[in-house]
Amino acid sequence: MIFLGAPGSGKGTQAQALVPNLGIPQISTGDILRAAVKAETPLGLEAKAFMNRGALVPDEVVIGLIQDRLVEPDVSGGWMLDGFPRTTVQAEALDQLLEKLGQPLEAVVLINVPEAKLVERLTGRRTCMTCKRVFHVLFNPPPTTIPFCDDHADCPSELVHRPDDSLDVVIQRQAVYRDQTEPLISYYEQQHKLHSIDGDRPAEAITGELKAFLG
Ligand SMILES: [Zn+2]
Repeated sequence: MIFLGAPGSGKGTQAQALVPNLGIPQISTGDILRAAVKAETPLGLEAKAFMNRGALVPDEVVIGLIQDRLVEPDVSGGWMLDGFPRTTVQAEALDQLLEKLGQPLEAVVLINVPEAKLVERLTGRRTCMTCKRVFHVLFNPPPTTIPFCDDHADCPSELVHRPDDSLDVVIQRQAVYRDQTEPLISYYEQQHKLHSIDGDRPAEAITGELKAFLG
């Protein structure tokens, strides 16, 4: 199963919430990349060389890492892929890999949230650099007066608006999603695998609908 959605849609959170329910692991490309680099596998070392140069890790390396991950014993009952594919080229490469492995893709879940809502979600985030807790100015304000964190009253640190959450960066990320990843919606529609879920609701409501649909 693949989770598809724009930055801030909560697809990673939803995949994670389903792990205990479905008993299959969530595979995020960020996690497997970090793990392979740490374990110094041949592909991990290759990926590290690109990352050290500040370059993007090429698709064929990422596909290789996914292949290594999909033959591990804990995924024999299935898997949830989150953060990949991001482009049509990647989706085609993944289709080829899955065919080779004999692991058919059963469903693509799209967490659908209007772009304006995503911008509001992401730009409102404030992060405590000491305890790493993330708040939101509207939806999850800190227990004490903004701009201070108060994690169990022992974190008097100032909250930070991270550069990643600035309006410019957020808008840029949404544009990249729209241009490069959104074409995957019709790609998977044509394969009759797309299930669109209204993501503009509390996370628990979305998880509930997903459990009902997948259970
Ligand atoms: Zn804090």
